[in-house]
Amino acid sequence: QSVINRIAAGEIIHRPSSALKEILENSLDAGATSIRITIKDGGMKLLQIQDNGCGIRKADLPILAERFTTSKISAFQDLEKLTTYGFRGEALASISYVSNLTVTTKTKADACAWKASYVDGAMIVKDGSAAEPKACAGNDGTIITVENLFYNTPARLSALRGSSEEYSRILDVVTKYAIHNPQISFSCKKSGSAAPDLTTPSESSVRNTIRHTYGQTIAKDLIHTEIKPLTVDEEEVMDVDEDDVTKWSAEAYFTNPNYQAKKTVFLLFINHRLVESSRMKKALESIYVGILPKGSSPFVYLSLEINPRLVDVNVHPTKREVHFLDEENITQRISDVIHDVLVGQNQ
Ligand code: ADP
Ligand code: MG
Repeated sequence: QSVINRIAAGEIIHRPSSALKEILENSLDAGATSIRITIKDGGMKLLQIQDNGCGIRKADLPILAERFTTSKISAFQDLEKLTTYGFRGEALASISYVSNLTVTTKTKADACAWKASYVDGAMIVKDGSAAEPKACAGNDGTIITVENLFYNTPARLSALRGSSEEYSRILDVVTKYAIHNPQISFSCKKSGSAAPDLTTPSESSVRNTIRHTYGQTIAKDLIHTEIKPLTVDEEEVMDVDEDDVTKWSAEAYFTNPNYQAKKTVFLLFINHRLVESSRMKKALESIYVGILPKGSSPFVYLSLEINPRLVDVNVHPTKREVHFLDEENITQRISDVIHDVLVGQNQ
């Protein structure tokens, strides 16, 4: 049974950066305004995320790492939205099957923090005492500590790159979430090193956060545009529920023709989750063909909000590629707007 659970967990948690992404999203869901990350050995030895969010009630700790345990379903309709990414309530459970997971947490209402450790979906006994949360000192918020990731799944472990490669994937995920959440302060560092490799202030802007992370050259050549669907008379909408099709909006930051780089940087968030779409990436790259010199590539950050019901719930969590209804039209519309802005800039 636990072997099967481990394999299933490895399907959801592929590598340190995917564990981190899940934990990060939980901190964001918890309303954190500060997120501090410490990494040891590319996340294989240690992945620690400290937030100042709402915390977890002591009473919820015993079942925290059981599968499908979630505090995020309040009504049945919510279920549709929450299953959008296909594995709600499975992140901490999955992590507990492939690592040593410890949670230290304090809500505002608690007088002290509570600490609990988990293995294979269950809270475990530590130092011979009963399996219940231990009182300890701590600030409001939650510290998630993941140690020895994939210690019991050698195949998963051997599929990883070296620790510096895994660390740079982690930094990449943190950087992207930092840009998408400029109001939140992020930091990420290697355990033992004094200076963080990434740090962003709170209450900042997208442009400032991009300057902070990707650098001044990108930031100064950035264009910001909001994109909405064509109005219904402009578009021939047929056979589709009008509400669903027209209700989306996007915000884009993309480099102008002065900015040139060897590799495209593309950040895509759909409903505030970091996702990948190679189709959309290709479409955006092709706009720049003829605008940028040959061999040059742009930076594009796109935040798309669509009706959660339109995101394909059947996509397996391991497939990071996202698909959504009306993808082609939305991509087309976004490409058209960006193209027009760029062509205007070029004149
Ligand atoms: P989900 O996010 O889909 O609910 P997870 O396995 O990621 O499932 O998390 C399980 C539950 O643990 C969450 O619903 C939430 O109640 C709680 N939780 C996890 N991380 C945090 C956090 N950093 N702050 C507050 N609550 C958290
Ligand atoms: Mg989660």
